[in-house]
Amino acid sequence: MIIVLMGPPGAGKGTQGERLAARLDIPKVATGDVLRAALKAGTPLGLEAKRFMDAGDLVPDRVILGIMKEALAAPAQKNGAILDGVVRTEAQASGLLGMLAELNRPLGGVLAFDIEDDELVRRLSGRTTCDTCQTPYTGREPGTPCDKGDGGKLVRRADDEPAAIRHRLEVYRKQTRPVIDWFEQHKAKVVHLNAVGSLDDVQARALKALGR
Ligand code: AMP
Repeated sequence: MIIVLMGPPGAGKGTQGERLAARLDIPKVATGDVLRAALKAGTPLGLEAKRFMDAGDLVPDRVILGIMKEALAAPAQKNGAILDGVVRTEAQASGLLGMLAELNRPLGGVLAFDIEDDELVRRLSGRTTCDTCQTPYTGREPGTPCDKGDGGKLVRRADDEPAAIRHRLEVYRKQTRPVIDWFEQHKAKVVHLNAVGSLDDVQARALKALGR
């Protein structure tokens, strides 16, 4: 089952994606994580993506479609995947549907996380992220070790600074939000989800929305 998570930055797609992946026993693929890992490793992909990511802009579709194609072909994803932040433009949505059709794999559904901007700014500006496994934390100072014991430390992402947050929300509104309607117009099963509440409550809503 391929499930696409849609929603603004800070809506909880990453955290809930992890939980859904564990629960449904399928991997989570997050293009943001793939790009940050490439950046850290200094690969050409990372170097190309850096200036877009630092500014809070979208990385070109060509780059994302390449990552998507590789992810869908990986044996680990043969039973499905949770795609977190992987689809952010109509070209990417259309590319994904094309790849799935070619592989003869159905799109299980699109989960759209609904949340107000004020709550997003509050969440993102208090967020730190492990520089190794990318786990996000709220209310922890940069430099604190990650709980996962991977030797990573918490850092503030450059794109979680206030000006970049505002810009990312604008980019979301202009380029990504319309993709939810695009999926509906293309007969995908789109389910909206109230993304405010405890992690357990939101997870329960997500599972219910997926019919699990
Ligand atoms: P995220 O971790 O999902 O917030 O992504 C961090 C940054 O990576 C975004 O602000 C974009 O610059 C880039 N990025 C991640 N996924 C995509 C995508 N599907 N399309 C374009 N850019 C992306």
